[in-house]
Amino acid sequence: MAILGNLVCKDPKLVEAKDFFFSGLHIAGNTTNAAGSKVTPVFASQLPGLNTLGISMARVDIAPWGVNPPHSHPRATEVFTVLEGTLEVGFITSNPENRHFSKVLHKGDVFVFPIGLIHYQRNIGHDNVIAIAALSSQNPGAITIGNAVFGATPEIASEVLIKAFQLEKNAINYLQSKF
Ligand code: MN
Repeated sequence: MAILGNLVCKDPKLVEAKDFFFSGLHIAGNTTNAAGSKVTPVFASQLPGLNTLGISMARVDIAPWGVNPPHSHPRATEVFTVLEGTLEVGFITSNPENRHFSKVLHKGDVFVFPIGLIHYQRNIGHDNVIAIAALSSQNPGAITIGNAVFGATPEIASEVLIKAFQLEKNAINYLQSKF
């Protein structure tokens, strides 16, 4: 049961070894989708024993030329380790600099995305990318920019989006239809 994003602790007397266990990160995520990527989370929701411990992880699969779209984790820094493949990663700092740091990563490389900043990954190789992300919260949260801005329910008034993105209404309608 989720309360304001936190999870209720289980009665310690009822805790079992399986509460500290998750199986499945050997399984590739299904990247057959518009972005060409899939994140498999192992947060407190999937591994109850992580609750209150301030750490979690995820498997990231990205098909050739796929992307993990720009997103942020409001409650966590992310340390990203490449197991297979070649990709470009990047993050953007806050206003007013909006400085973009990007780097090409190969197998064995590690990159850090500081807490709260918008970041992305793009497979630039000919093979699948497999990566493991470690996150400094048991419940890091994920805000995908496109989904949040153009896929909000109920939707954000187009007048807001027209001004914010300097686009015409048709372009806003198109983007809202995609998300
Ligand atoms: Mn991330």
